[in-house]
Amino acid sequence: MNSKCNVCGEPFRAPIYQSPDELSITTMNKLVPGKTLLYFCETCSHLQTSELPNLKEYYAFEYEINLASEDDDQIYDVINGEPVFRADHQAATLSEKVELFPGCKVLDYGCAKAPTLKKLSQRHAEIKPLLFDVTDKYVPFWERFPNKPEWATHEPNPEWAGTVDVALSFYALEHVADLKEALENIIELLKPGGTFYFIVPNVYENTADFIVADHINHFSPVSLRFMLSNAGFSEIDVDATAHHSAFVVKARLDSSAGHEKQATPRGELAEYQSAAQSMANYWTHVRSRIKEFENSIGADDVPAIYGAGFYGNFVASTLQDFEQIQCFVDQNPHLEDTEVRGKRVVKPIDLPQDVTHVLVGLNPKTAQKSIAAIGNWHGRQLSYFYL
Ligand SMILES: [Zn+2]
Repeated sequence: MNSKCNVCGEPFRAPIYQSPDELSITTMNKLVPGKTLLYFCETCSHLQTSELPNLKEYYAFEYEINLASEDDDQIYDVINGEPVFRADHQAATLSEKVELFPGCKVLDYGCAKAPTLKKLSQRHAEIKPLLFDVTDKYVPFWERFPNKPEWATHEPNPEWAGTVDVALSFYALEHVADLKEALENIIELLKPGGTFYFIVPNVYENTADFIVADHINHFSPVSLRFMLSNAGFSEIDVDATAHHSAFVVKARLDSSAGHEKQATPRGELAEYQSAAQSMANYWTHVRSRIKEFENSIGADDVPAIYGAGFYGNFVASTLQDFEQIQCFVDQNPHLEDTEVRGKRVVKPIDLPQDVTHVLVGLNPKTAQKSIAAIGNWHGRQLSYFYL
């Protein structure tokens, strides 16, 4: 399975990473049976995780959990102590990058609750929102849109074909094995000259993406351009800075664009190959680093985990003695007074006085900065572990 590249079709050689045990971790912080295997494509620089055999069951059951919460609640960043929510940031970026006009048909393809298009509709009453998802369970959310959206479930409305000005896709293509089919579905709906706008994770900025079992595609700017130009898109813009740890991608459907296979420059390929290899080494050794820190925690010490998201859960699942953890600490106000793995989640300001050790479960690229920004921890004698 997955013996060839989802982007360029070339066969893979040996994997660059294999998880050390028979367990893989998902974006929903669940451990699932099966080894995580990653391959790097030496033709287009795509990084690919082999699909776990039981992933279908995982989608059917685990993704239901998300229905309980509003996607609007996910925190994108904390700026001057104030949370900025993901959907707000995505809507703001989209309105800067894409020209919208009265009657502009904006389709969210595979939209789930469509929080970003809802925010966009609040800012731009003049657009015409179209919603599509394979299931009808999100209809109650769509009914709360301000400007009367049109929607379709199971299959896109055939009347939409060739009429869509802007097709949106947020965090979907990383899950899709048949990228060719996914792009063909989008192309069928777009007007000639229409815009495909999407966001996918940037593993090179957020290394957690490397080991999550349900993300099978880890794109690079090179593999994104390769994929889009071969599908008939032009004016391809891959922005690695507009959104933390993600690529914001915009491309124009151009029927005259060549469907030619482009060779990737060796230098760029080597750069991503070496970055992918470094991540493989990192994840191979991180468990022993956590163990070493855990061994330094004395019988009278009190440890806590900072971060109740993916990284914090990864630390928790790696500990030999999780029970000694007193609490999780997280900035997200929606997590306050909830429990994760049976431990309560507190705000940084409420860190109990007896806590001596903090295992920081945050993106290693930004963790030190985030911890340094917590003003009222400055006078405390805390021992930190950074991933
Ligand atoms: Zn490839």
